[in-house]
Amino acid sequence: MEDLLHSIEQKVKPLIGLGKVADYIPALANVDPNQFGIAIYSNNGELYHAGQAYTDFSIQSISKVFSLTLAIKHYGEDMWKRVGREPSGNPFNSLVQLEYEAGVPRNPFINAGALVISDMNQSRFASPHYAMREFIRRLADNPLLNSDKIVASSEYEFRARNASMAYLMKAFGNFENDVEDVLHSYFDNCAMRMNCVDLAKAFSFLANKGYSQLSGEQVLSARETTQVNGLLATSGLYDEAGNFAYRVGLPGKSGVGGGILAIVPNRFSVCVWSPELNKSGNSLAGMAALEALSESIGWSVFG
Ligand code: GLU
Repeated sequence: MEDLLHSIEQKVKPLIGLGKVADYIPALANVDPNQFGIAIYSNNGELYHAGQAYTDFSIQSISKVFSLTLAIKHYGEDMWKRVGREPSGNPFNSLVQLEYEAGVPRNPFINAGALVISDMNQSRFASPHYAMREFIRRLADNPLLNSDKIVASSEYEFRARNASMAYLMKAFGNFENDVEDVLHSYFDNCAMRMNCVDLAKAFSFLANKGYSQLSGEQVLSARETTQVNGLLATSGLYDEAGNFAYRVGLPGKSGVGGGILAIVPNRFSVCVWSPELNKSGNSLAGMAALEALSESIGWSVFG
C-alpha cells in the first residue's frame, strides 16, 4: 500500500501551482502551498502514509463532521427539525437559501448548517469548544491537539458573512444562543490543528460501524454511521459533491485548509492534504490523489 501512496504522491504533486490557497484570512493565506500528505487507517489498526502526513494543518470544515457527531449523540432525530439533509448546490458560505427556506439550512456541512449545529452543542455544553476538543483528542488518541488561536481570532475578525447567516437564522427563530458566543466556538473548532494521521484515526469510527478502536467507544450506532456517511456522500464536498461522487465515489468531507477526509465503509478512513484549492474550495492535489487511489483499488461505493 505504501508504494502505491508514494507513486500517487509523485503523480499529483505537479498539480501544485495550479490552485490557490485559501486567502479569506491572512493566517491561512500564508501557508506554504508546496505540501502534500496522505494517511490511511484500516479497521485492523494498520496505518499507511506518504508525504507530509505528520504536518499539522487547519482542519476547517472537516470539524463540521465532529460537531455533527456530537449533536447526533445528544439530539438524535430531533435535530433534523432545525437543519436539512439535502445538498445545497451552492458555495459553502452562501446565504441565499436561508431566506426562502425560513432560516433552516440545507445540510450540516455548509456554514449555515454547521452554525446551527454549533448552536445545538452550545446549548448542551458549558464550554462547547473544550468538549469538542476533548472528544477529538480521544478519537485521535492524541492528547496534544489544540486550536490555533491566531487562525480562530482572524476568523472572528473577518466574521461578517458567518455572522450574517447566524443572525438571519436567529431572526427566523432557529438559533438559541448568543450569536457571538456560538461564532467563537465554531471558529475555535474550525481552527483545530491536526495532521492526516490524526484525522484518519479520529474518523476511523465512520469506517467501522460507529466503533472507535482507539478510544474504545461506540461513538455512533451502526445505523447512525451509515446515515452520516450518506450525508457526507451527498453534501460533504461543498458544491462539488457530485463531482467527488463521480471521481472518487466515497463519503468525504473537505476543508479550506486543504484537507479531505474520505471513508471506505467497513475498511479504511483516509485523509489527504494539500493546501492549494480548486474553484469550489477543495484541495486540487487531494482530489486527484483520492481519485487515483479509488481507481487503483476499486473503492467506489457505487461499484
Ligand atoms: N472557518 C471557515 C468559514 O467558516 C470554514 C470554511 C471551510 O473550511 O469550509 O468560513
